[in-house]
Amino acid sequence: MRILTGTSFGPCPGSEPNDSQPANPTIQDGAFGDEAISATLDRRMDGVYEDRTLACRDCGENFIFSAGEQRFFAEKGLVNTPQRCPNCRAIAKRARTGGPREYHAAICNACGNQAMVPFAPRTDRPVYCSSCFDKVRAGLIAPAAAPVQG
Ligand SMILES: [Zn+2]
Ligand SMILES: [Zn+2]
Repeated sequence: MRILTGTSFGPCPGSEPNDSQPANPTIQDGAFGDEAISATLDRRMDGVYEDRTLACRDCGENFIFSAGEQRFFAEKGLVNTPQRCPNCRAIAKRARTGGPREYHAAICNACGNQAMVPFAPRTDRPVYCSSCFDKVRAGLIAPAAAPVQG
């Protein structure tokens, strides 16, 4: 144990407060162009995207929001991250653009069964059910010249 002595004296009453001014004038009042520096930083950030893992809102699966996609989003001015995985996005997009598609009943020109086609049947074009359409396209059955309606 040491006994401290002589430490309880106050400051000398004769000293002026001006004496405590900083010796160096400040050099940090914007002389170095903060704006230019932050602009440089921003530009560098733009070039660096990293893949991110996001959770799909619909199915809950994780999916990758890739660096390229992030760049694409940024270029498009999109600020929101995708809410859905690519699968659910495609489904949602289909639902949004096509809606529940309106099908029309028609008679298949090849097999004569009723077919549902996603367009209004025209009398000058043959109509096929989906299975016959595949066969026609594959060349398994010859396309009919005209519908067999009447
Ligand atoms: Zn999903
Ligand atoms: Zn058919």
